[in-house]
Amino acid sequence: MKTVPGRTNRVVVVGAGLAGLAAAMHLAGRGREVTVLERDPGPGGRAGRVERDGYLLDTGPTVLTMPDIVRETFAAVGAELADELPLVRLDPAYLARFADGSALAVHADAGAMTQAVREFAGPAEAEGYLRLRDWLTRLYRAEFTRFIDANIDSPLGMLRPDLARLAALGGFSRLDNRIGRFLSDERLKRVFTFQALYAGESPMRALALYAVISYMDTVGGVYFPPGGVGAMPAAMARVAASAGVDFHYGERVSSLERRGNRVIAVRTEEGERFPCDAVVLTTEPPESYRLLGRAPRRPLRLRPAPSALVLHTGGPGDWPDVAHHTISFGAGWHSTFHELIVAGQRMSDPSLLITRPTATDAGLAPEGRQLFSILAPVPNLERGPIDWAGEAGPYADELLDSVRGLMLPGFEPDFAHIISPAEWAERGLVAGTPFGYAHSFVQTGPFRPRNRPRGTGNAVLAGGGTVPGVGVPTVLISGRLAADRITGTPRERRRTVLDLASEGAR
Ligand SMILES: Cc1cc2nc3c(=O)[nH]c(=O)nc-3n(C[C@H](O)[C@H](O)[C@H](O)COP(=O)(O)OP(=O)(O)OC[C@H]3O[C@@H](n4cnc5c(N)ncnc54)[C@H](O)[C@@H]3O)c2cc1C
Repeated sequence: MKTVPGRTNRVVVVGAGLAGLAAAMHLAGRGREVTVLERDPGPGGRAGRVERDGYLLDTGPTVLTMPDIVRETFAAVGAELADELPLVRLDPAYLARFADGSALAVHADAGAMTQAVREFAGPAEAEGYLRLRDWLTRLYRAEFTRFIDANIDSPLGMLRPDLARLAALGGFSRLDNRIGRFLSDERLKRVFTFQALYAGESPMRALALYAVISYMDTVGGVYFPPGGVGAMPAAMARVAASAGVDFHYGERVSSLERRGNRVIAVRTEEGERFPCDAVVLTTEPPESYRLLGRAPRRPLRLRPAPSALVLHTGGPGDWPDVAHHTISFGAGWHSTFHELIVAGQRMSDPSLLITRPTATDAGLAPEGRQLFSILAPVPNLERGPIDWAGEAGPYADELLDSVRGLMLPGFEPDFAHIISPAEWAERGLVAGTPFGYAHSFVQTGPFRPRNRPRGTGNAVLAGGGTVPGVGVPTVLISGRLAADRITGTPRERRRTVLDLASEGAR
């Protein structure tokens, strides 16, 4: 693995989103003097928090997976996850509702899920589910240590036996075909393939190796920190500060001062100068390249993932039957992905993620009230240049009406807080999508923008725009991979990685 040469004592991290916080924690734990510069008044970035009329809204991720990666991040500075950020495992992980009126509680526990599938679709599907679960687990093991959790210097660096193992598992076939080998019920197939959208792809186009995302939620489970997902960056910043990380909020980085190919200081719009031996940029890739003063060498333009419109709302009532996470599948499927990814249109028959965090933590809303978010995938601004300034309100009303009809009869909202692609674009996010570049094969792994940009001696990238990719666990890993580029992989971790790799080979 190529690392930053020369002195690396003082490191400046740009951005206090989850990637920047993770990088800062790993670097501080390895004895570096770390300064974090963030333009916002607090940590979190896309994992944002808004307080409104006594409600605490998580404006970013709601489906938290892979707690071991969160645990490892806290352990980097000697902190115990259980003490700093207790996580509750959600059961069910999701409630899946289908257009024909049927519903399935999705459990991560094998026994509970087998039983649920048997009751929902019969014994043959239950048997198929167990085979699918076994395949997902083998796929995850084959991919994780070698392709997701590792710095890869070039496509040639991918080891052939690992690729052969992935090919033997069917990782290079199409996702929907591969899942169809285990399940024949169309509704069940959706439960294990919709996650392709998290990667910005349709299940029909995505390679089966992306089923690793379905492993993360349907096998690994979905978790929630009481206090909301916003409690996570807050806890990370708190333990990082205790470990000596110096945070500066309200500082927008405007330029990098260079000597030769090394960055020697980071300058902010507010007129501050922070000297450094190395820098980690967690900004959007175009902004990172602008700061570095170089364009990436790449034959094709990168394709952004679809975006989302999120309606946050709350109001009186108990709604005890509404799960923490409901995925409401519309009748359309191929057409839905076509509209979002190819045609650049809103879904004509929407599939939605509806979250009721107050199902797990009543304290996120005033007494006697419930908090909801409704996330509708929408095209990014490049694919579908919709005028969201005028369209967001009416579309949010449509979504609320449809969810009212589905599961919240008579719901009277106290407020509506809408975030559309226009707001993501205002924050500088490429094509108005918070989900960055799609994870098509040619934009994944060694083909994704590298975390060690060419021609820069001591700058490293982290965050969803680089490896391994978008999502909470992956950006936490990206922070660690950036730290490894600066310090080298710590010896004790090399051992763990080897143990896991040999386990994966079995
Ligand atoms: C609505 C929504 C739902 C999501 N749902 C899920 C989910 O359920 N599960 C999941 O795993 N993931 C989900 N994600 C994705 C996940 O939240 C992101 O991948 C992750 O939080 C990105 O972290 P990051 O550190 O890479 O980027 P960011 O959080 O964007 O961090 C970058 C930071 O850099 C700062 N910055 C930018 N420019 C400058 C500058 N010039 N100077 C100083 N600071 C700067 C920004 O303010 C920001 O704080 C969701 C995201 C959104 C928005």
